[in-house]
Amino acid sequence: MVAGAHLTEEQIEQYAMGKLSPNCCEDLEEHLLICESCQLSLEETDTYLVHMKAASARVLEAKEQPSVWDNIRGGLSQWMAKPLPVFAGLACAAAIAIVLIAPRPSPESPQQVTLESLRGGQAEAPFVEAKRAIQFSLDATGLPESPSYTANIVDESGKLVHEAPATRSNETVAVRSAAGLPAGKFMIRILDSKLELLREYAISVK
Ligand SMILES: [Zn+2]
Repeated sequence: MVAGAHLTEEQIEQYAMGKLSPNCCEDLEEHLLICESCQLSLEETDTYLVHMKAASARVLEAKEQPSVWDNIRGGLSQWMAKPLPVFAGLACAAAIAIVLIAPRPSPESPQQVTLESLRGGQAEAPFVEAKRAIQFSLDATGLPESPSYTANIVDESGKLVHEAPATRSNETVAVRSAAGLPAGKFMIRILDSKLELLREYAISVK
């Protein structure tokens, strides 16, 4: 069944490097298509060369030259149902590279909301847009000192819908809600490190 003699190591190496002239390769390729042992040798040599090329600085240049496997892949695919490991590896590496350089969608900029304390006599709860990220800036004038602050957002029935760390800087407390809130009326409560309620703020979401 196997036509012709096995390829010598030298022939395989020269063939893999594309150093054999095209008209000398016909018998050789014919043999390659049906000889598993020579396919394996060539694959090993080609994989080695691919690694060498990748390691060199001429990566882009090397990519532009079709691999030896590209040349005989069409013929081989008739004989081999499963993909060659060397191709699977390269395709995998390419996929990873694409994932790494794919631009990530830029996150929507949050709505900036400044709230006065209810005790501060805020006439009406300001409106914010539903289901959009919110960056709250809460008035902290006179707020008791605490090593840390926590913000709870509760709905009208008092049910907790969001809990987040709150950071105090000067006279404001910053609270972020990345997912935003559903439509409705809410209270934002600032708690100290012992989870004692310090202050409440009202907000309407629509
Ligand atoms: Zn052979």
